Amino acid sequence: MAIPTATVRLKKDLERSLRAGHPWIYADALEPARISTGAVVDVISRGRFVARGLYDARSPIAVRVATLDPAELVDEGFVRARLDSALKARRGAIDAGQTDAFRWMNGEGDFLPGVVVDVYAEVAVLRLDGDAVRAWRPWLITAIAEAGRPLGIRHLYERSRGGKGEALFGGAPPSPIEIRESGVRFAVDVAHGQKTGFFLDQRENRRAIRPFAGGEAVANLFGYTGGFSVHAALAGAREVVTVDSAEGALEQARANFRLNRLDPERHRFACEDAFAWLARARDEGRRYGLVITDPPSFAPSEKSLKKALAAYRDLNALALSVVAPEGVLAAASCSSHVNHEAFLGCLRVAAEKARRPLRVLKVRGQPADHPTTPAFPEGRYLKFVLCRAAG
Ligand code: SAH
Repeated sequence: MAIPTATVRLKKDLERSLRAGHPWIYADALEPARISTGAVVDVISRGRFVARGLYDARSPIAVRVATLDPAELVDEGFVRARLDSALKARRGAIDAGQTDAFRWMNGEGDFLPGVVVDVYAEVAVLRLDGDAVRAWRPWLITAIAEAGRPLGIRHLYERSRGGKGEALFGGAPPSPIEIRESGVRFAVDVAHGQKTGFFLDQRENRRAIRPFAGGEAVANLFGYTGGFSVHAALAGAREVVTVDSAEGALEQARANFRLNRLDPERHRFACEDAFAWLARARDEGRRYGLVITDPPSFAPSEKSLKKALAAYRDLNALALSVVAPEGVLAAASCSSHVNHEAFLGCLRVAAEKARRPLRVLKVRGQPADHPTTPAFPEGRYLKFVLCRAAG
């Protein structure tokens, strides 16, 4: 399959940031051009080659950079090489004996912009970001089939934004798929679950809460299918309350307890708005030794940033009001527009509002199978802060 090659010219002086590895060029930084979406383009500045990437005529991100090497062709072999390289880069990133679900390809962070591949045991799930990268779909299917064979991958399912799910090879994947994460079992529904089915990015953070859960009452807000809850219960929590507004997610959370030989009847599952649940728990004087807040992104765009920061402050102030004296708050944010400093700023204000001085124990992020590049801070979207709240 041939992809036409064209040339675009930089209007803004972005040479340095591109050479440093920033992978995006916004449309307003380029001279106007009439190029079709999905074309491979050479980016030229002052007559010189700067980068080669994928063009999107409709997106504000007009070019996603694929390579800075003028000798590197962007073709089927390129896509395969990037997937191979990402797989090698997973060495040491996951404990393959205990974990069979991981992110194989993390788009920009693995130098293949717009392409995410998550592995759930024998199923790979592909997520393409933007229309342009759809041009690579046939190459991706072949490359994932071949490179995935030694990993035991037998199905490829696509879950791209806006599109409906589709089996790309191997027919419909099993539903649910049973995975193991640090030895803990979870059922994942890749066709209907959030994102590609599960929040693989929280794997290490789920382990990180365990030392604080033993013997405690634990509240897991925005608990989805119970990822944090199962870990807390296995670590010996007295009782775990999982709160989520989606009944289906809670049903799966109960199933995940059973998968790990935990009796869901000994724990609680509340289908409710997390803010409303917290306000009632506070008013009723209920207190928890560990409270986890992991909401969906409050800042889907730069424009919503102010409102989002206010929501993180309010949520965590409320959460602090139900943390027992000297108990632990584990606060997460997955908004890429909110950086680590800004999120810690939200926790500072939350602590002040709740009159609960905080000791920050650990500031964490995403695991090593979600790599980012130094030039692309937007990729470091996950914040996870463990703190102890004074009485
Ligand atoms: N912590 C989870 C992931 C959370 S995803 C894990 O480790 O797997 C966010 C979850 O928040 C979703 O399950 C969604 O149903 C839920 N949610 C969204 N808005 C909510 C609200 N206002 N109150 C409670 N749950 C909400």
